[in-house]
Amino acid sequence: MFLTIFFSLLIIGSSGKSSVPCQELKIKDHFVSWGHEKVSQPREIKAIIIHSSYNALGPDSFGINGILDEYKQINVSPHYIIDRDGKIFRLVDDQDVAYHAGKSRLPDGTINVNNSSIGIEVINTEHDSPTEEQYTSLLNLIECLKNKYPIKYILGHNDIAPGRKSDPWNFDWKKFNVMLEDQ
Ligand SMILES: [Zn+2]
Repeated sequence: MFLTIFFSLLIIGSSGKSSVPCQELKIKDHFVSWGHEKVSQPREIKAIIIHSSYNALGPDSFGINGILDEYKQINVSPHYIIDRDGKIFRLVDDQDVAYHAGKSRLPDGTINVNNSSIGIEVINTEHDSPTEEQYTSLLNLIECLKNKYPIKYILGHNDIAPGRKSDPWNFDWKKFNVMLEDQ
């Protein structure tokens, strides 16, 4: 009885927000063979890092296959990538360390941010902005991840590698933070 009440309170406590449950999120598994490594211990995931990507080598800037080819060539990958229609693709399992951040540092001093973060790429170039569909999917994905892990930071790549990285490009943090708070 006591345990039932205890767990009920836990569930209410963690689901008091109106976010889309993880299982209702349409995430398409598209696991890649490069750009990540398995770790033996469950890792502490405390940050979500937002990036921008586009295909610089082909005519279709927003084509996901071209973007994945680029990642493969340099052995990098995020955990998730969100296309222009807001479709979410999972490239690397959350528990694996994905190579998305490079030399980096969190505000609490943690270095090698790959080890303690999940990376999300939003497809856009330096000359355009994320679409509304991308903002919505990103918001839902982040809410889902926040319910699974003790997320302390939601930051841009430029926040953890200042001077070296400038993405996410043209990302409207003001609008996105309001969306996050409204959840
Ligand atoms: Zn980046």
